[in-house]
Amino acid sequence: SAKKLGRNCFQFYESSMNEEAQERLRIESALRNALEREQFVLHYQPQLDLASGRIVGVEALLRWQHPELGTVPPQRFIGLAEETGLIVPIGAWVMRTACAQARKWHDAGLAPLRMAVNLSPRQFAQPDLVASIAAVLEETGLPPAALELELTEGLFVDDVAQAVALLHELKALGVALSIDDFGTGYSSLSYLRTFPIDVLKIDRSFVGRIDDDADQAAIVVSIIALAHNLHLKVIAEGVETAGQLAFLRAHDCDQAQGYYLSRPVPAAEFRELWPAEQTVA
Ligand code: C2E
Ligand code: MG
Ligand code: MG
Ligand code: MG
Repeated sequence: SAKKLGRNCFQFYESSMNEEAQERLRIESALRNALEREQFVLHYQPQLDLASGRIVGVEALLRWQHPELGTVPPQRFIGLAEETGLIVPIGAWVMRTACAQARKWHDAGLAPLRMAVNLSPRQFAQPDLVASIAAVLEETGLPPAALELELTEGLFVDDVAQAVALLHELKALGVALSIDDFGTGYSSLSYLRTFPIDVLKIDRSFVGRIDDDADQAAIVVSIIALAHNLHLKVIAEGVETAGQLAFLRAHDCDQAQGYYLSRPVPAAEFRELWPAEQTVA
C-alpha cells in the first residue's frame, strides 16, 4: 500500500541520513587529528601569462592524505572544516606552508613567482587575520607582492563596510587580492569599484563551455572587458583544451590555469615543470 511504501521510504531516508551523519562525525574526528599527524599536503597549479607564455604564478590547493580514505579532495572536507572552525588552524598551516614554499622557489631562481592562497569566509572573519598573514610574511621572508589571497564573492554580502576596511588592511600589507569563481556568487557588481581588488578569476563553469556555447563565450568576453575597464587582471580557471586557450588568448585574457596546462602537482613536480630559461640566475 501507499502507506507502507511511505513508511519504507521514510525509513530509508532516516537510515541514509544516519549514515551521512556518521560519515560526517568520522571525517570530523579524523580532521581534528590530521594536522598533528601531518596528513595535509599542498599541490600547486601553474598560472600561465598568455602574452609571454611564461608561468607567473601558482595556486596552492589543499589535499588530505588519509591512511584509509586515501587522498580526500577539498570538496569533501572544506565545508565541514569551515562549520567546525577547524579551517582556522588548517588555513594557518596552508598559509605558512605555501609562503615558505614560495620563498624556497624564489631562492632557487623561480622568481618572481606569485603564490595564490585560498581564504575561506571563516578565516576572513578572524580578528587576527591581518596580523597572522603579516607574521607569516615576516617569518618566511616572502615579499608581500608575491602573495595573492583568493577570496569569494560571498564575503561581501554581510557587512560591506567592514569587508572593505579589512581588504584595505590586507592591501596595506602589500599583498594582491583576487576574486575566485567570479560570476557564480550572489552579490552586487558595485563592489568591484569599491573594493581594492587586483584580479578576477573567471569560474571554470563559464570557461568550460566557450567552445560550444555562444552565450558562455559572450559571458567570458564580457568579464574580460569588465575587468580591463576596471584596471583588473583576469585569470581564466579550468582551461581544458587548446581551443579554450586560443579563445582566451584571442580575447585578451591575461592568464590561464587548467588541466590543459597542468593539473595541480606536488612541489617537487612543479620544480621540474619550471622551464630552465625562466630561472633567474
Ligand atoms: P578553487 O579555489 O576554485 O580551485 C580550483 C579548483 O579547480 C581546484 O580543485 C583545481 O584542482 C580545479 N581545477 C583546476 N583546473 C581544472 C580543470 O581544467 N578542470 C577541472 N575540472 N578542474 C580544474 P580542488 O583542488 O579540488 O579544490 C576545490 C576547491 O576547494 C577550491 O576551488 C577551493 O575553493 C577549495 N580549496 C582548496 N584548497 C583550499 C585551501 O587551502 N583553503 C581553502 N579555504 N579552500 C581551499
Ligand atoms: Mg582558488
Ligand atoms: Mg576557483
Ligand atoms: Mg571553486
